[in-house]
Amino acid sequence: MKRRNNEKFLKTVVPLLLGLVFLLIIFGCYRLITKKNKTFLQTIDKSLYASISHDAIYGIHLNFKGSMPVLENISDFSLVLANGKDEIVLPFESNVEDDTLTFTTSNYINKGINLEFLPTGVYYLVIKAVTMEDDKPITKYFSVKNDTDYQNLEYYTLTKDGKNNKIDIEWDTYEECPTLRFTIKECELPNDVYDITIDPGHGGFDAGAVGTLDGVTYHEADLNLNVSLKLKEILEAKGYKVAMTRTKDEDVSIYEPGGSATLANDVKSKFNFALHHNSFAYEASYLKGLEVYVASDIEFDFANLLIDNITKQANTQISPKEIYQTAPGIYQRYFSEEEILEDEVQPSNKTTSMIYYYNIRELGGISTQSTNDGRYYDINGYVANPYNKSNNTTEPYLLELGYVNNEDDLRNIVGHEEDYARGIYNALEEYLSTNY
Ligand SMILES: [Zn+2]
Repeated sequence: MKRRNNEKFLKTVVPLLLGLVFLLIIFGCYRLITKKNKTFLQTIDKSLYASISHDAIYGIHLNFKGSMPVLENISDFSLVLANGKDEIVLPFESNVEDDTLTFTTSNYINKGINLEFLPTGVYYLVIKAVTMEDDKPITKYFSVKNDTDYQNLEYYTLTKDGKNNKIDIEWDTYEECPTLRFTIKECELPNDVYDITIDPGHGGFDAGAVGTLDGVTYHEADLNLNVSLKLKEILEAKGYKVAMTRTKDEDVSIYEPGGSATLANDVKSKFNFALHHNSFAYEASYLKGLEVYVASDIEFDFANLLIDNITKQANTQISPKEIYQTAPGIYQRYFSEEEILEDEVQPSNKTTSMIYYYNIRELGGISTQSTNDGRYYDINGYVANPYNKSNNTTEPYLLELGYVNNEDDLRNIVGHEEDYARGIYNALEEYLSTNY
């Protein structure tokens, strides 16, 4: 009898107990995991929030501007991505005035938080502050709330060793506390996403500038395409996915899908290179060499690398042109008062702080003050730039590689297009390999 009871016990109760223990372990693990995830959000001080008034991705950089009321005993502010385990300290410039802390990650649109270098994981954007309580320093975390006109952001890192990360930057709430969550994970690059866009200037009915060498006529559109195809080849050999506005002699639209002012943003590429060759009017025949046209409010690190690498690799020089020049070889052309007055579309939304060239101004969305909101349709048939108000855009460069009506320049260019392309590539690699 006793033995039978034991057998019964072993056959029924023990498995039940084991099952129960197993369930308890599973439940415990679940609690541990969920508690671990919640711990950081639970530690956030909900007495006040920082207000984010601006957020924008431009090229490979993300920037925030914001403010927060400051309590008397709070000091030592920093901006961090945190999850209770790891903390990533972000660039942070701040100022306290009238009990308000104002901050920015950078005053340059192409500096700030470099999205290429964020490690995988889940993080929350918070202000980390040190408060003194009973003469003891206590660390507090304050969350951020969305006071921008924008919602979530999405970013794919450049292809590196065949791999990409996807970054989702999402506004959320946790127990009525607003949060901004960064989810960074490895992913396959979607078919319609590219790393870099090249826009070979002109084409089709528009041949661009014209030059002659040893009795042969050269058209800018062809030279632009030659350098662009070489650059595409070099970039693809290094594993980058490259989009082009044209790959042969054909017309290219501007604001329609795939156009020279839209393609780079259509395919979410990080950089857009508009490649051109210049020409001078007779009275400026001293002009020759390289000119790099850039957006306003940028730092010149990449532009300087383009200048250094192209002049070295292609054995050319920077242009002596002084008009629109901001730094040696670097040019920022803004609308002039006259050009705004001549604008046939009234009321014009152009200002003298906007860049004149559409393939810089329009590609940068809000970061570069895109002007084409559709009002130019009646005058010249331009449909609205779909990225007119976008806060997630490419970083564009317009390169005038040389003057086709300067004989030295043209001789240096024809047959040596690969040197110019390699110069651009070398600049890009040097820029990306540096942790800014
Ligand atoms: Zn051109």
